[in-house]
Amino acid sequence: MKYISTRSKEPKISLSEAIRLGLAKDGGLFVPEQFPTIDFSEFTKEDSFADFTAKLLTSFFKDDSLEESVSQFCASAFDFPFEIRALDNNTWCLELFHGPTLAFKDFGARFLAECLNEIARRQNRIFTILVATSGDTGSAVASAFHNKMNTRAIILFPRGRISKRQEKQLTCWDNNILSVSVDGRFDDCQLLVKSAFDHAWWQEQVTLTTANSINVARLLPQMAYYAYTSFMMKSQGTMPCGFVVPSGNFGNATGAYWAKALGFPLREIVMPTNANRVLFDYLNTGTFEARQSIATLANAMDVGRPSNLERIDHLFPSWELLQENVASYFVSDDTIKSTIEQVYKEYEYVICPHTATGFHVKKGLADLPWVIASTADPVKFDSIVEPIIGKTLSLPKKLKELLDKPTQCVEIDNSMDALIDVVTAWN
Ligand SMILES: *Cc1c(COP(=O)(O)O)cnc(C)c1O
Repeated sequence: MKYISTRSKEPKISLSEAIRLGLAKDGGLFVPEQFPTIDFSEFTKEDSFADFTAKLLTSFFKDDSLEESVSQFCASAFDFPFEIRALDNNTWCLELFHGPTLAFKDFGARFLAECLNEIARRQNRIFTILVATSGDTGSAVASAFHNKMNTRAIILFPRGRISKRQEKQLTCWDNNILSVSVDGRFDDCQLLVKSAFDHAWWQEQVTLTTANSINVARLLPQMAYYAYTSFMMKSQGTMPCGFVVPSGNFGNATGAYWAKALGFPLREIVMPTNANRVLFDYLNTGTFEARQSIATLANAMDVGRPSNLERIDHLFPSWELLQENVASYFVSDDTIKSTIEQVYKEYEYVICPHTATGFHVKKGLADLPWVIASTADPVKFDSIVEPIIGKTLSLPKKLKELLDKPTQCVEIDNSMDALIDVVTAWN
């Protein structure tokens, strides 16, 4: 099976090459040239998520040098529980936050780490992964790559601009992970990453790669959990469900669209956003306009230029197809707060601010079965959630263990020379 860029049809490349490159040379994102034909009789209702995903993804790795390793990757990457919680006759919550850093990004980051580590091992190299983070992504990446010894990861974050608990989760690693606190903003960290790719020192001294959310290896497991959920619910006799996917960069929702494109029983897909309403406006006006992002309570969804929109446009290449298949509504911070409260009262169930956008939008939809994707454990957003529900959330053991580890972090000015100095010293 071959992969193409969303911007041009050439050249077609293998999946491992697409994973190694991250972004296509023409600036586009990698997508399958065509989706494989799925043999649904391969799957059974006894399959664990790891087993199901190994079978499903093997066809995406067909004729790739990693094809034989997919089962092993899935077994190591998806060693945590998978939970579909029924709330009432028509509402389920797909809890995607049982991985080590308590958000859905663990699925993609852990699978990507398996792939990149094995590609590097076979090339007899060490890949250096450089990422900028404003919170969630960095901890998922650090945790996923920790002790994958054919890789090392350098995590840049803006000093004093992330929460204490987030900072702790970025700085509790050792060995092959270097946490760097930069005197600057998130945009400065991101600019350092971008400049490194064009910088002579980085080109000569290391094999540089990145782990951001546009990598196709992060999308495949996200597709798999929608395929798995829809398959399991159908096996239990539920009619095909619609899926509500709280969205920022649209990687999670792209996974759902891909699962539907494969023929899995997803009735329809709805993409709530926070006040960053660029998708809602696009669907209403027919012209996409990127905006500066606005800060909201659902901060992992604060995106004004969603990178995976290009994959959704590629899947639905005409305006009619896009309007037929994509729906979006936006949700204010006040509504996020009132929804957290209502859901707690109605179900005695605590949700995070991102998931709240999904619960609110679902209330306005048809009276049919819906699955709402829950993107993070509410305990990660304790300072928002606890005052609303009037209760302290207990720390899960996994998070407590992380928070109790010693921290390691180097501090630098916002400059490339300072970054190169600390990386050289670390070597
Ligand atoms: C990243 C993230 C989102 C947004 O997902 P996208 O794939 O960027 O649309 C939503 N909620 C949480 C908790 C996240 O970390």
